[in-house]
Parts: sequence; structure tokens; C-alpha cells
Amino acid sequence: MAFLSGFLKDIKDGWTSFKNRNQIIELSFSRVQAYSRCPLMYNLVYNRGWRSGPNGSMALGLSLHRALAAYFSEENKSRTLDQLNDIYDHVWVNEGYKNTQELLDTYDGGRKMLGRFFERDQKRTTEVVATEKEFGMNMEGLHFRGTVDRIDRCPDGSFEVIEYKTHGDCWSESRIANDLQMTFYALGVKEGLHLQPLKLKYMFLSSGETVETHRTAEQTTAARELLYDIARRLRRKEFDPNNEYCIRCEFGTRCQKSGGTAPAGAAPASRRT
Ligand code: SF4
Repeated sequence: MAFLSGFLKDIKDGWTSFKNRNQIIELSFSRVQAYSRCPLMYNLVYNRGWRSGPNGSMALGLSLHRALAAYFSEENKSRTLDQLNDIYDHVWVNEGYKNTQELLDTYDGGRKMLGRFFERDQKRTTEVVATEKEFGMNMEGLHFRGTVDRIDRCPDGSFEVIEYKTHGDCWSESRIANDLQMTFYALGVKEGLHLQPLKLKYMFLSSGETVETHRTAEQTTAARELLYDIARRLRRKEFDPNNEYCIRCEFGTRCQKSGGTAPAGAAPASRRT
């Protein structure tokens, strides 16, 4: 019986794959991350529209990203700390906090981060040429798109990709060296925006520290292979649950396939931090 049902499943998968063979699959880092964590979660979010609100940490990340993007935008003519703080107030995401005290503490923490950022930015020798820059990359059977926090031009004419990260203490050396998001951005900025040579940098807002990183040809090849693999599986509509992730999943209390309970404030699949 098991053999028969396996055989029928293979036929069904093969037919689904054949039917969808020309379908262009849209991917982004968030989609790749969601699918890698749990294919069922991907289906719930991207095909069935499930949503969850941000937690406090996510809301702070969004507020800071928005403030810095607006501060460096062409429309903003005043580059003072007061202006940066005014923008922060304007774009502040006022949701996801457990109570008023957490909200106030987080807001103050964000202001301090921006103060440190502003101080260091006064010594910047690069030119900010783009913020929240979108790129798209066509690959066989798929389209990958992303948004880079910032691109700077250096005095020697080279370009830097800058990713803001709120909490530097979560980022070990190994995580910095292997972060898949940066690998995709290195690939996408070269192939989608045709900018090179490139430096890749993380700017940690909690400490004000900037760390440069590199990606090897092997890493970008592996990232491409991952995209092809996920696109193949999406074409076959493979959405099996991955119960190993349930304990951290924000849908743990709603999902019928859940094998664990999500802790309060579990991180949504695809938000900036
Ligand atoms: S609760 Fe578990 S099975 Fe359900 S979407 Fe989340 S990770 Fe997947």
C-alpha cells in the first residue's frame, strides 16, 4: 500500500511540475527565509494571506530603517540631529509593545542609537547615493527581488552595500560571514544594478559599529542553487510542515499542523530587525 501511495504521489508531483514548468517564480529573501523555515508557513503567508503584527523589537527595527531612509532621501534638505529625531518621531511604529513602559524604553533606546549614528556619520567619507534601493534579478524560471538599505560611493569610485542591523549583540562573526541575505544582496546588486566592485558592510545601530564582510564565489553559487531548488519545489506546490520550527513560529496557536506552542512575541517570518 505504501509503495502504491508513494507511486501515485510521484505521478501527481510530476504532473504538477509539468503543468507549471513555464511559471516564473517570484522570490525575495523573506520568501526564501519563510520557505526554508517551514514550507507550510510560506503557503499560509504568501498564498493564503496570513499576517501577524510586529513585536516590539521588529517595530523598533522598522522605525529606525524608515527614519534613516527618510533622513538620507533627496527630499530631506536638513541633515541635523534634530531633524533625524523629528523624522524618527514621524515614522515611529507604535505597535507590538507589551505595555507602555516597554514602548517608552524602546523609543528612548532608538533615540540613543540615532544619536550615536549621527555622531559617527559626521566623519563619513563616502557619499550616500541610494537608500531603500530596489533591485531585480532574472534567473532561469525565477525572478529575485530585494531592497538594499543603503548604497554609498567611496572616494575611489567603488560602491558599498550597507545593511542596518538594530541589535549587534545577536551577530556573531560566523553569522556575519554567512548571512544569506547579504549573499543575495551581493549577487543582486552586481547583477541587478550592475554596480561593482562592491564592499559589503553591516552597520550595527545598537553599538554604532560598522563591520565589513565578504562573499565568496562558492557562497553565491550555493545561494543561486538554493533559489533554483525552492523555485522547483514551489512549482511542484510542496508545502509540507516543518515541525522543528513550530516552537518559534508566530502561527503556532492558529496552525492546525503545529507541533509546538509559539512563545509570546515569536518573531514574524519576514521583518526587519
Ligand atoms: S506552526 Fe509549525 S507547521 Fe504550522 S506554519 Fe508554523 S512552523 Fe509550520
